Amino acid sequence: MIKINSAEILCVGTELLMGEIVNTNAAYISGRLASMGINQYYQAVVGDNPARLERCITASLERCDLLIMTGGLGPTYDDLTKETAARLMNRRLYLHEPSLERMKIYFSERNVVMSETNIKQAMMPEGAVVFVNNNGTAPGLAVEDDKRGKIIIMLPGPPGEMVPMFRDSVEPYLKSFSSVTLVSRNINITGLGESAVEEILEPVMKAAINPTVAPYCKEGEVRLRVTARAENEDEGLVLCDEMIGRIRQTAVAPYIYGVDTDLPSALIDLLRRKGKKIATAESCTGGLIAETLTSVSGASGVFDGGVVSYANTQKISLLGVKKETLERFGAVSEETAREMAEGARALMDADIAVAVTGIAGPGGGTGEKPVGLVYIAVGTKADTQVRRCMFIGNRGRVRRLAAVTALSMAIAKAKSDF
Ligand code: ATP
Repeated sequence: MIKINSAEILCVGTELLMGEIVNTNAAYISGRLASMGINQYYQAVVGDNPARLERCITASLERCDLLIMTGGLGPTYDDLTKETAARLMNRRLYLHEPSLERMKIYFSERNVVMSETNIKQAMMPEGAVVFVNNNGTAPGLAVEDDKRGKIIIMLPGPPGEMVPMFRDSVEPYLKSFSSVTLVSRNINITGLGESAVEEILEPVMKAAINPTVAPYCKEGEVRLRVTARAENEDEGLVLCDEMIGRIRQTAVAPYIYGVDTDLPSALIDLLRRKGKKIATAESCTGGLIAETLTSVSGASGVFDGGVVSYANTQKISLLGVKKETLERFGAVSEETAREMAEGARALMDADIAVAVTGIAGPGGGTGEKPVGLVYIAVGTKADTQVRRCMFIGNRGRVRRLAAVTALSMAIAKAKSDF
């Protein structure tokens, strides 16, 4: 049995070299290899040129055991991936009848006459494992060389064909070469920056061999991915849970809002368990918080509604913000944010409310109130707290960070008050 120690990706296509298309295939396959625990040390792009293609394949096979190629499986004369790889693996091409049959059906279903050149796509190197293409014509394939311990996998270039084929056929195929199962769990953290998380967890992360612990920065939150190698999934989950337990004993613990979740789901779940309802009042986020909440199925159990009060008149008429407050402190102020939250909570008869008012930019900033200044309020019957935030970034990022921070503050408040 071939042992896969490392893999390489080689994407074929002059369009890639010219910058006409972005190499999303390499990004996708890299991510999948990483999650399967297959090391990758090199990847490359080569144009549709047989001599250079041959040199690339030869060089890769000197370094790795598994070469995954995409592109160049089409019907035309410059699609040379299969022919070149077959030659290098000393395999003759033969007509793979099941692939030809599938192609004939594919064309007749679309009322298109199959061209003779398409037959080339059904030609396979002897001994190849064929991967069915349910979204196009070119099948994928794997050629194994047991003596040298090498595998070349060839996949079609269009991502709409390559991705489902990789997911449905290539991953199960690759798993048959490994007795190791990888299990990952994500710890979700908010309210603490990536560097602070790393500083606290440095000893844990450095000592962690199995499971490994790796931080990933998301907008407004940090995700810690705990990955265990085990003989089976159950064993992997136990190892992950032990590590999660260890991390819960560090100073990061108060900032963990969940495992394998996201902010709106965690907030909705928390409110549902406590039997509480939330309301929103949004100015610069224009409904983004309500949108984020309602993107979670089951939101209706905890969210009756929110107000988008962009203009001062609506802050006054819908939320009951005092005219004097707006005149004295301005729309973007701690006082306005507070009154917006209190108004939304009363209007919706909710237990908790979040409110956001700020300057998302690019215009509208002043020396005193620059672009990125956002006040976020969260209030319950007990009290209303307001945070002054300075977000850096363009309009979209300021708005997204404001929404994420509001959700994160709501979770903290709900945890402490309910
Ligand atoms: P076809 O059967 O369509 O000829 P093929 O396997 O020969 O497919 P190519 O001709 O190399 O593949 O590429 C077809 C299209 O697939 C490209 O025009 C491009 O849109 C997309 N594509 C190819 N390679 C990549 C890649 N690495 N990343 C993203 N898209 C790609």
